[in-house]
Amino acid sequence: MSVLEATPPRFGTDDVVRIAAELFGLDGTATDLGSERDQTFLVEGPSRSGVVKISNLGERSETLDLETEAILHIARVDPELPVARPQVVSDASGAPAYRTNVEGPDGVHFVRLFERLHGRGDVASPDLSDGAVRAYGETHARLNLALRGCFHPEAGRHLLWDLAHTVTLRQHVDEIADHERRRLVEAVLDRYEERVAPMWPRLRAQVVHGDLNLDNVLLDGGGRISGIVDFGDCVHTAQVADFAVALASLIRGRSGEEAFRIARIAIDGYSSRLPLEVEELELLGDLVAARLAQIVVISAWRVARRPENAAYIQAWDADSWRLLELIDELGADRFSRELGASMRPVAKDVLARRRSDPLGAALTPLSYDHPVHVVRGEGAWLIDADGRRILDAYNNVPVVGHCHPRVNEAIVRQTRALNTNARYLYEPLVVLAERLVATMPPEAGLDSAMIVNSGSEANDIAWRIAAGATGRSGAIVTHHAYHGMTAAMADLSPEEWPEGFHPAHVERIRHDAEGAAVAAAAARLEERGHPLAATFVDPAFTSDGIHPPAAARLREIADATRRAGGLFVADEVQVGHGRSGEHLWSFAHLGVTPDFVVLGKPMGNGYPVAAVIARRELAEASGWAGRLFSTFGGNPVAAQAALATLDVIDDERMIPRTKRVAELLSERLEHLSADHPVLVDVRGLGLLIGVQLDGPERANAVMNSMREAGVLVGRTGARDDVVKIRPPLVFGTAEADVLTAALAAALLAAPA
Ligand code: PMP
Repeated sequence: MSVLEATPPRFGTDDVVRIAAELFGLDGTATDLGSERDQTFLVEGPSRSGVVKISNLGERSETLDLETEAILHIARVDPELPVARPQVVSDASGAPAYRTNVEGPDGVHFVRLFERLHGRGDVASPDLSDGAVRAYGETHARLNLALRGCFHPEAGRHLLWDLAHTVTLRQHVDEIADHERRRLVEAVLDRYEERVAPMWPRLRAQVVHGDLNLDNVLLDGGGRISGIVDFGDCVHTAQVADFAVALASLIRGRSGEEAFRIARIAIDGYSSRLPLEVEELELLGDLVAARLAQIVVISAWRVARRPENAAYIQAWDADSWRLLELIDELGADRFSRELGASMRPVAKDVLARRRSDPLGAALTPLSYDHPVHVVRGEGAWLIDADGRRILDAYNNVPVVGHCHPRVNEAIVRQTRALNTNARYLYEPLVVLAERLVATMPPEAGLDSAMIVNSGSEANDIAWRIAAGATGRSGAIVTHHAYHGMTAAMADLSPEEWPEGFHPAHVERIRHDAEGAAVAAAAARLEERGHPLAATFVDPAFTSDGIHPPAAARLREIADATRRAGGLFVADEVQVGHGRSGEHLWSFAHLGVTPDFVVLGKPMGNGYPVAAVIARRELAEASGWAGRLFSTFGGNPVAAQAALATLDVIDDERMIPRTKRVAELLSERLEHLSADHPVLVDVRGLGLLIGVQLDGPERANAVMNSMREAGVLVGRTGARDDVVKIRPPLVFGTAEADVLTAALAAALLAAPA
């Protein structure tokens, strides 16, 4: 017979006073604490008190052993958790045990003595402050964490109160007389079958308390849990289902919006100790609804059998029905979202229309004739809102692959531990600076790294220090250069200059400029009162159309810059972090020694972080020493992202791999040029490859046609006639094949 059906024990307080004295040597008065299937009494003596629990005749000894095992496990793992511990008593034979027997009018019952904990047991959820609700969630997570390693064979028992068996409630639904109410419950059960049941086997499961509702805790004056009692529903089940039981209790007595808000605060508390997995958050709302349905169904079934206990059994009914009605009114999807489930993706055209209003006029346009609406990324692949896989052959930011687990975890772990700014001591920033400096050629003297948030900011600082250190104000850049979006960098970025814009302190050179051209540009600057402070060069001349120079040419530009009194900045934002397939930094392979090295885009694999590496003496000479601070610059999370990215580049041997894939891809693309006269040139540096076509319209048509085929590439160059291929470096030979086939098809399709 199950404990839900067996007759509850029927001992009076006088019996309990006698039992406590005889069996436990505890003298005092007894108070019935109220319980349904068992009996629980507080026995208070002058020097000692305890809680006597007499079990239902249907109770199995194994179940009590499970409870004891769980409680003792918690006490070992997290001794601060206020769990009522069973006291060692003498069993029937006189041996020490956690339970013994007592004879009653209906038979022999198990009886246990528990430690007495203090606190209030009659607090309703609306009386709890937000802080108390958050702490409740946190304590629940601690309880689950403490039970993680607990095992007992009895935990596999079948318990109707276990949300694993929600579908079996169907057999009792007819006990609900009201038709409309039956419909509410059936809707919850349908949804459970559709959404929860298929996921159930994948959910994290363990031994749990099983019923951490407000009736099973004691609270201190501040509403914090000071006692956890009643492990009678202890079972092995989904962790998130156990939390749903607590949430259903915490939203009780609260109005709609307030119920959701409080649930979210409890979830925050829980997640602060034990983050919920994505699937768990998706199902949490349905599990709370299932718990409410479970309460009303089991209540209807039990009241029919025990009408004398109706008041106790139905204590939660009214509020459970109210909440079930609320969920029905709102819709289960919305209820789930209120508790943290993800939104359904908005239709692409609707989103595109909504985009421009709040984001304003200055915003960059969307790429491609048919914009891409992506929801997920994985390696070199993106998944769009319709679930289509798209090959990303364009984004160099996720250098080690979209959503790389190492980088993700580094970010998440550091975010959970600490995020602050560089005015405090923390290790990741120091380690990152040491690591970056160590990657520089030893003879270069590039001994200090400043960590900032974007390539623009990094170039901006390089510029400020160069100008300060030289006492000069002129800059040389290439014709179609891009170095960033700050006001100073916009001056140095002719790619984005509006019509007629040409700052007097900037001169331009061709990407294949000889030393004499640099000298001439410097002379023109000097004439205008802006002697040369620095030349900024992207060593692959990406925005000029991708022109990997002969090493000697880049050296010539650097040498001529220095002869003119300027400093040389290698902007590795595009081509750094291994893209060249030769070295982490392309300048090292090209044989130049810069005065500044600027890193950006791929540095955090998508997390904003950038850097300037320079000689300490330049910062000291610039007048800016000790004056550079950016709130987010070099924060611990950014530093961890950057370190993890460098680790993955090493561990996955990404640089030699890039070289191999780049050689193969370039070969295939050159092959294509034999069959396609519109393909004018293929050139590149590692996995930065430009495919020059016979005009910008052709390049545009090819790029859009490839996008339709599910392969993303870009466009660059002063005439916009170069198809830009710049994939994450996880791009492999299989991806190279997909790309080549898509390009070949696009070349055939593109109108002449
Ligand atoms: N330098 C180069 C060479 C770049 O390509 C870019 C960005 N495309 C930047 C600097 C600016 O970087 P950010 O957009 O991170 O400010």
